[in-house]
Amino acid sequence: MNREEREERLSQLRAQYDLYKSRPFELSVARGIPSKQQLALSEALINDVDIEEVISEDEIDIRNYGGLYGIKEARELFGSLMNTSLEETFVGGNSSLQLMYAVLNHFMYTSDNPWSKEETVKFLCPSPGYDRHWFMLEHLGIEMIPVPLTGQGPDMDTVEELASSDPAIKGIFVVPTYNNPTGETISDEAVDRLAQMNTAFEDFIILWDNAYVVHHFKEEKEVAKDILEASKQAGFPNRPIHFVSTSKMTLPGAGVAAIGTSAERLKELAKTFSKQLISFDKINQKRQVTFLKDKETIEKHMEKHAEILAPKFEWIDAIFSAFFDGDRKEFVEWTKPNGGYFVHLTTQDGCATSIVSKMREIGIQLTEANAAYPYGNNPRDNSIRLAPSNVSLDNLEIILEVLCVCIELVTLEKQEDSE
Ligand code: PMP
Repeated sequence: MNREEREERLSQLRAQYDLYKSRPFELSVARGIPSKQQLALSEALINDVDIEEVISEDEIDIRNYGGLYGIKEARELFGSLMNTSLEETFVGGNSSLQLMYAVLNHFMYTSDNPWSKEETVKFLCPSPGYDRHWFMLEHLGIEMIPVPLTGQGPDMDTVEELASSDPAIKGIFVVPTYNNPTGETISDEAVDRLAQMNTAFEDFIILWDNAYVVHHFKEEKEVAKDILEASKQAGFPNRPIHFVSTSKMTLPGAGVAAIGTSAERLKELAKTFSKQLISFDKINQKRQVTFLKDKETIEKHMEKHAEILAPKFEWIDAIFSAFFDGDRKEFVEWTKPNGGYFVHLTTQDGCATSIVSKMREIGIQLTEANAAYPYGNNPRDNSIRLAPSNVSLDNLEIILEVLCVCIELVTLEKQEDSE
């Protein structure tokens, strides 16, 4: 495109944008929230699940105090997702994020050798990653070190180099399956290297946030290698702490979350939990188990979610592929995940913040640009996350058309400025 052609195209795009501005939208693809249609799949949990037996399989009265580790049938169900035994499985309340926070807080302040006694405490943060992980670390005063992702998990050369050289680095966050927001699943090789690596801090931990463990779109399911088994074999059984929740299987407002880790590590963590509460909501644990039953039933249930979600992801790919072709091919790259909740856009350098604010100005909310980087700090300013689950296909089409215009407009303006 020569200068004149670009000027002409820019004036068309500006006219189009002004039209949007004169009649703003009220739409959002900012957060990974299940749609009403998805929530309806688990409607039975509210009124129709019959809890026939108030005594759990391990003889706990679910109405009463007791059973800090959760009821046996819930531990078994989550054990089937995390490949953990009963004594390696702990079932909590409705949020895995809360469990992660409690675990980090334990290591910071209440473990035998609290990290907070040291001057600096650092954590490895594969990026682009989940902004709420970064908020949690920042809130606890843990310094975040970004590590690049490869499309198959964290760049292990960098992870090994950092973890082996600095004892202030206490651990790493990993979203092993359909990472939020890049959609990638970690390779077996990266799992083995994480399990086996030598670390300067001897009790290095891996927070294995498997939020999207059963959230496939395709028949071919991406499955991360078992980190606990690999770590046991490598002689570091206490290293990984696995988290899963039913938030995006059933109802995020009233789900159940679980931890899977070595029996020894679990005892240590349970001791700290026992200072916070007597037991979690076991009636909800029972309700979720009655509804979800077993791994096979969960997989069938997740197919219904996929039927609703997958077309939205196909739509994004189809619209972007049609628009960003020819001259516009270089303007943006987007992920094509096989599961999870997100699409990640890599714009040209220096464009992401302007694109997101242009969208906001006309009433379309996106996640803050670069939020997937620790402290929101991405010197390339090229990262945008789309969370399409909670908009209809019709509205998604509108959002995508507008987004295409904003991406092209900002990219051409940037080109013009840099000449
Ligand atoms: N981890 C990741 C990677 C997520 O994307 C989300 C939800 N957006 C969560 C955890 C939240 O999980 P929960 O509802 O169990 O706290």
